[in-house]
Amino acid sequence: MFFQPIKKNIKSMAVQPNLTDYTTIRAEFSWEAVRRELSGLPGGQGLNIAYEAVDRHAEGPGQNRIAIRFLGKDGGVSDLSYGDLRDRSNRFANLLRSLKVDKGDRVFWLAGRIPDLYPIFFGTLKNLNVFCPLFAAFGPEPVQQRLERGNARILVTNRKQYTKKIAPLLNRLPELRYILLVDSTEDINEQVLSLPRLMAEAADMFTIPPTDPEDMAILHFTSGTTGLPKGAVHVHNAVQTHFITGRYVLDLHQDDIYWCTADPGWVTGTSYGIIAPLLHGVISIVDEADFEPERWYRILQEQKVTVWYTAPTAIRMLMRVPEELPGKFDLSSLRLVHSVGEPLNPEAVLWGQKVLGLLIHDNWWQTETGGIMIANYAALEVRPGSMGLPLPGIEAAILTHLDAESVRVEESDVEGELALRRGWPSMFRAYLHDEERYQKCFAGEWYLTGDLARRDADGYYWFIGRADDIIKTAGHMVGPFEVESCLMEHPAVAEAGVIGKPESTIGELVKAFVVLKAGYKATDELSHELIGFGRGRLGSAVAPKEIDFVDNLPKTRSGKIMRRLLKARELNLPVGDTSTLEGSTTS
Ligand code: ATP
Ligand code: MG
Repeated sequence: MFFQPIKKNIKSMAVQPNLTDYTTIRAEFSWEAVRRELSGLPGGQGLNIAYEAVDRHAEGPGQNRIAIRFLGKDGGVSDLSYGDLRDRSNRFANLLRSLKVDKGDRVFWLAGRIPDLYPIFFGTLKNLNVFCPLFAAFGPEPVQQRLERGNARILVTNRKQYTKKIAPLLNRLPELRYILLVDSTEDINEQVLSLPRLMAEAADMFTIPPTDPEDMAILHFTSGTTGLPKGAVHVHNAVQTHFITGRYVLDLHQDDIYWCTADPGWVTGTSYGIIAPLLHGVISIVDEADFEPERWYRILQEQKVTVWYTAPTAIRMLMRVPEELPGKFDLSSLRLVHSVGEPLNPEAVLWGQKVLGLLIHDNWWQTETGGIMIANYAALEVRPGSMGLPLPGIEAAILTHLDAESVRVEESDVEGELALRRGWPSMFRAYLHDEERYQKCFAGEWYLTGDLARRDADGYYWFIGRADDIIKTAGHMVGPFEVESCLMEHPAVAEAGVIGKPESTIGELVKAFVVLKAGYKATDELSHELIGFGRGRLGSAVAPKEIDFVDNLPKTRSGKIMRRLLKARELNLPVGDTSTLEGSTTS
């Protein structure tokens, strides 16, 4: 179903957005100008993410400003100023130097969202080592796989993780030189050392060595939604994208109180949970606890959050709780809500408008792109269901692949592969140890995203589905998102995952797995009603022909529906890599 664009009145906004005239800003944009806005290392010694995000503020009037406000699970609140962050990251950089960790060596993090994460992240970058975060809830196998594939040299973790997941696997990790325990005041042996002890002994002055913007900074494994996670390599130059998206998309202003709910185990949690807010000198909220509706609304209220970056899966979960709950909280500080990671159903955008009094701004990007590429902007109209317009500086296109040739589609509303002109600063520089796969992502000047989309006549992009998830039924190509969003418009449906099930006459049959809202019963009548509802809105070719009611959908830890798993289970096929499956292992 088509939803009307929702216009905005910029004059009535209390804070004037950073980007108002999209066309002019886009026309005049240059990455060189962005680079000039960043400081660069003193003496023209290159570009280092840690300097731009931390030291630049700490050396000026921003020294005592709060950088990170940490909300502990137990209710405790602790603040880290930009000055604290500089000193502690200097200590960690010195510590790495004293352990003789070489440039480019990988420092892995497996300790969840705790205050130590931030100095360790920036200290790693200061010493020109490469930071690689892992989800704390990964089981021993996924941890071992990633440490091995990523050539981990240093692992920062805690005692529990070490005992449960690392100690039994140590003989399979010959490259791992030291394990630093965040919660041990004493060394365990010559390889397993106390982080607090080493930090206390390290000096808090450190000069960042000359940094080539092309030096590797971060290694991120992809979410594993479509298969085995790939290790995407990012460089210091990515900071340009973090900076400009912080300004134009997140619309950060110096007085903002910003909350990104993503875990650093996936890329949103580093690009936008750590780097982008600090580049803009704002206060960044970090919550140690997991999702819980009441806790989240309370944080928005008590911390007076102004800009909130979250994910569709969290929004859909909030949509499931009674509307009286948000009504109990004062959310009047909030002025902007953003979402990423999965298609944002139009229904969710409208829910935001009704319940939060704010539209939810969808944006699209990938681990490989390093930063936001297509977005809805604070000042521009929102077309519910659309990912928005390309970031200034980013050229997007729809490509069709004909006889192994990739051809750019000029007409609007044609489905094809979403592509980006290669060469933006945060583009991944490699899939670690898989050059062949990396090369396959490019066709001439274009980076091929593996997602299908269309562009409307005004340049807005609409997500159709991942190429792997597209359903071919009776001569039609059906994107699961369209069907899932339609089902969500029915009052009984909380969430849906849609797959193609092989069928002899029509190729594939559209099948939906539906999670019901509280108070609705899984009956044959409801199943028929939903099939009829789909037919009425989507037509019989696209509407689901089979419905299964389920309690939950399989999701990655970053909250994405794993349709390949729904399909494999349906067809009794091997499930493939499930290392990122939520709930598959415990910490
Ligand atoms: P893998 O590559 O290992 O299968 P993944 O692609 O899910 O995992 P990420 O890089 O975390 O790993 O996710 C990027 C993908 O998420 C995009 O390619 C797209 O399919 C989806 N995505 C992200 N944001 C949006 C959005 N706003 N709308 C639709 N899809 C989105
Ligand atoms: Mg991917």
